[in-house]
Amino acid sequence: MHAIGIDVGGTKIAGAVVDELGTIVDERRVATPVGDTELLETTIVQMVQDLAGDGPIAAVGVAIPGFIDAAQSTVYYTPNLPWRHEPIREKLEARLALPIVIENDANAAGWAEFRFGAARLVSDMVMLTIGTGVGGAIVHDDTLFRGGFGAAAELGHLRVVPGGLPCGCGARGCIEQYGSGRALLRMAGEVADAGGVGLALAEARTRSGGILSGHDVADLISQDDPGALVALRRLGRHLGEACASLAAVLDPQMFVIGGGVAQAGESLLGPIRASFLEALPARGYHPEPEFRIAELVNDAGVVGAADLARHHFPTPGDPNAFSAHGSAGDPATA
Ligand SMILES: [Zn+2]
Repeated sequence: MHAIGIDVGGTKIAGAVVDELGTIVDERRVATPVGDTELLETTIVQMVQDLAGDGPIAAVGVAIPGFIDAAQSTVYYTPNLPWRHEPIREKLEARLALPIVIENDANAAGWAEFRFGAARLVSDMVMLTIGTGVGGAIVHDDTLFRGGFGAAAELGHLRVVPGGLPCGCGARGCIEQYGSGRALLRMAGEVADAGGVGLALAEARTRSGGILSGHDVADLISQDDPGALVALRRLGRHLGEACASLAAVLDPQMFVIGGGVAQAGESLLGPIRASFLEALPARGYHPEPEFRIAELVNDAGVVGAADLARHHFPTPGDPNAFSAHGSAGDPATA
């Protein structure tokens, strides 16, 4: 049976009807009405009603960029949206005659990669989403790892530099300050300031009115500009060290790297892998996990949210709803 996935972003809301194989059969996209919780809720309700049409829908998953409680009902906090301690699930259920579950957006994207993307053949994976910030998701033993309070896998706030740069979360030295798209722009600016290989970056910065944009840096990376690649290597080294710490705890078979910066492909994976291996405990005696770029670039949030909802509310006759990779799935279904 089909499920609906909704991905609520800071600028747009994407919605899709998704089948059991993770294929999108219908989709919608609207601008996010920022600043008004009532209107935001109504926009989601209308999108679900529109997508549901006449067809049977097993469940609805709503992916939200923020902290969600362990019961997957209440949004504690969303940095870029106005929800604070909002019982979203209850509110949406009151307006829609469908089972609803809410999920952190990075978890939804990670689940999509685990089920249908780069990590579909492993049981344990860690995904790092390198966008403006750094998001994360952990799948352990075919199950999405949510933690005791529902806020696990906030991997962007793993501390990599004690006493380092201040982070938006209130702490210092988080990987988000050293491994994100924003960090890449800062590092590219430093390479431009240093002259030498930074010449093309400095020229691009001048053309862009004194501030390097993500497009400037991505363009230069795609042209193998030596300065842009120096900045990308710095970013990759920090990410690789973070992955080594994560491997010491989680021992995944695979790291999946997603988000806009991951479009750099092997130019990013190479430095991550190199610094990972230098920092890996018991190197040479420990099987090495694979590093892969995410496959479901723009659709991961809606596909993952829909599939998690289907797992949460299994329907008879839908074998996919009960298991991932043919083994026991999410304990929520038990
Ligand atoms: Zn932080």
